[in-house]
Amino acid sequence: MFTFAVFICLIPLGFCKPLQTRDSQSLFNVTCHHIARVISSASAVYYPGSPQFISDIEHWAPSSTQVSACSVEPGTVKDVAAIVNVLARSTTPFSIQSGGHATSVGFSSTLGVAINLVRLNSMAYDPTSRTVTIGTGQTWSDLFQKLEPLELNVAGGRMGGVGVGGLALGGGYSWLSNRHGLTIDTITALELVLPNSTVVHVTPSSAPELFFGLRGGFNNFGIVTKITMRAYKQGPVWGGVLSFDADKVEAVNAALAKFSASNTDPDGNCLFNFFWSNGVLIAGTLQLFYNGPEPPSGLFSEFLSIPHTSKDLGTRSFLNFTKALSVVNPLKPTHLRVAFSSVSMPHIAVPVLKDIIQQGQYYSRPGVFSTQPFVSFAVEPFYWKSMVRPRDDAAYPHDVFVNPLNLFFGWPNATEDAAASSAIKGAGANITQALINNGQDLTGTVLYPNYALGDATIESLYGANVPALKALRSKYDPKGVFLRTGGYKFI
Ligand SMILES: Cc1cc2nc3c(=O)[nH]c(=O)nc-3n(C[C@H](O)[C@H](O)[C@H](O)COP(=O)(O)OP(=O)(O)OC[C@H]3O[C@@H](n4cnc5c(N)ncnc54)[C@H](O)[C@@H]3O)c2cc1C
Repeated sequence: MFTFAVFICLIPLGFCKPLQTRDSQSLFNVTCHHIARVISSASAVYYPGSPQFISDIEHWAPSSTQVSACSVEPGTVKDVAAIVNVLARSTTPFSIQSGGHATSVGFSSTLGVAINLVRLNSMAYDPTSRTVTIGTGQTWSDLFQKLEPLELNVAGGRMGGVGVGGLALGGGYSWLSNRHGLTIDTITALELVLPNSTVVHVTPSSAPELFFGLRGGFNNFGIVTKITMRAYKQGPVWGGVLSFDADKVEAVNAALAKFSASNTDPDGNCLFNFFWSNGVLIAGTLQLFYNGPEPPSGLFSEFLSIPHTSKDLGTRSFLNFTKALSVVNPLKPTHLRVAFSSVSMPHIAVPVLKDIIQQGQYYSRPGVFSTQPFVSFAVEPFYWKSMVRPRDDAAYPHDVFVNPLNLFFGWPNATEDAAASSAIKGAGANITQALINNGQDLTGTVLYPNYALGDATIESLYGANVPALKALRSKYDPKGVFLRTGGYKFI
């Protein structure tokens, strides 16, 4: 007789508590042992207690980690297919993890079988097509390391530690986006293990429906083992970080709004983080990027003229530029529970930025949390001309231009998950209202799936593409095998 693990969502943030029985545990173990028997020596299964198991299930945010029955590291696509075949014949839940940066528990974690793609870390450059084909289990930093000696780059993650798999299958806002679009806009082919365990090479001509669905659709259609992306010549870049005291943030806001409205240089880009604690705006950090050894004079002058508390700007390799950023970005939250959420901003306007400051202040104030939270919102101005594609081009629709706003809440105690849920939702709703009050038209806009809350509806993320995505999922996963792995599901 089979017994299933039953999940009770205590609060609508994705923090689900399992009601796991001894029967379900032993069932999961049977699946682990079955997988161990069918994989080759290029792959391995690990169990709780082994250091490799711990590293396999670990996530960027500890609140996204779950202790699974075993972890599996497939080393070949054939072994990925063998694993999917075993899972399809079982009822065991499973997870697919690339860089483990999903902040919603269950999206790449499980109590069943945790598939960690870390061994899928290949990189091959094809000079004829000017593309690189990359394994989806590596981090962007590992990839940038491999590309640097070839003087090449791809439109990948802005912070190195993020995984290739999640970022590339969810959209991908990159330092190269103002010139080349989202990561998904630069993908030319994918290698996919379907839920029925067959391996398919997906291109716009060989499998147009899957090519559409995978670019934004995460794990709904199977496990992507390789991605082929356009590669670009990469020389030295200019950029780094400026830090500001709270009393300078208004001046930065004015510069941000101006940059967002007037920049037409696809090689220039920036990102601004506000930081609050205990109801007080404590600081702001500005990341500046120019894809060339020096920015044209005037491009960033407004920002550079504001008195700052620290400055680390200069000409450096792209790899060193991303390393410089990791110093100031929200550090790995080793002791915090974390939730991300998103708001889509057609325009970055000063009155809205003022409201954003108020929201950060309000929701980080004493009383919302009994312990000190860490709250940071990131404003990301992009160049609209490079960022729009026809709606039916990819699962993540980006036919209507928006700048994604990332809301980051961190808090120490699980007892405050409900408070965090209502704070992050409250802030998102109030900022959306501020956009409307500012006269901005949100028609046809969607939220960015890679930043959205775990319980965001698929309609809010995929808009008018939802019916096509639902039909595609039922076509390629009629038995619902991949409904046993977490994430936004096209049902
Ligand atoms: C510090 C930090 C910096 C970030 N910077 C950026 C940024 O610059 N730009 C941006 O756009 N986003 C950024 N993000 C958001 C990031 O894109 C998402 O969190 C993304 O999903 C993480 O990918 P991952 O592979 O690390 O995560 P994972 O947790 O491993 O995976 C995320 C989801 O993708 C699925 N998945 C992963 N690999 C595969 C695969 N091969 N086949 C099928 N499904 C798969 C997983 O099952 C899971 O549901 C950032 C997040 C953090 C925490």
